[in-house]
Amino acid sequence: MRRVPCDPVATEDRGLDYELLRRHRRSLCIQVREDGSVRVLAPQGASEHEIQKLIAERRPWIDRKRAEQCNRPPGVFLLPANGASLPFLGNCLVLELTGGRGPVERVGHRLCVPGSDTKIALRLLKAWYRNQAREKALREHAPWSARIGRHPQGFVIREQKTRWGSCTAHGIISLNWRLMLGTPALFEYVLVHELCHLRHLHHGPRFWTEMARLLPDYADRRRALRSFIGTWFGATASAPLTDLYVDHRPT
Ligand SMILES: [Zn+2]
Repeated sequence: MRRVPCDPVATEDRGLDYELLRRHRRSLCIQVREDGSVRVLAPQGASEHEIQKLIAERRPWIDRKRAEQCNRPPGVFLLPANGASLPFLGNCLVLELTGGRGPVERVGHRLCVPGSDTKIALRLLKAWYRNQAREKALREHAPWSARIGRHPQGFVIREQKTRWGSCTAHGIISLNWRLMLGTPALFEYVLVHELCHLRHLHHGPRFWTEMARLLPDYADRRRALRSFIGTWFGATASAPLTDLYVDHRPT
């Protein structure tokens, strides 16, 4: 941790509420979560003074991040009410908030989500969608990878703010879990699109020729994706995500 010679700013930090978690780790880390709450991960032996110093030092960053979170449009990040319909690959699941503990369970069209408060329930619900996305990608990529002649090194399921998917030069494919809120055709389009980048790491003519070979109706799907928002609320303030992006930078 970088030490500051004096900390006149520290007095301003008294009003900042944060959750402190002590872990077996070497460095201090500050996280601003999507609900604006602040969490500090600290080594077991870190002193209160060290923690306060870091918070003082990072306060402008913390304030900026919290402001960003507060200004985020409502929609996908809020927990839907009990009994709400959740889009899931072209179908609807009925959300059942069961409280308490245990795993998220799907029983037919019901999705039973535990959690002693809304924050926990939302986290569990999103984690369930992410797991479904990961399993789907792992289950379905093989025939496409075989046709392309390249195999991904791994899948990462994320909540990108501006992308549906990306592919690194090292063959790691990221997919946005919100694709699970759309139809199977949209998910498949993004999956195949990113797999196609394993061979063509650009959006040049050869890339689109390959896409046309693999998915003859790719243009229709691409158009549908552009107007797809990917949220579980009908009216949302968030704009559709931009077109797909390929990351050329080495990771
Ligand atoms: Zn692309």
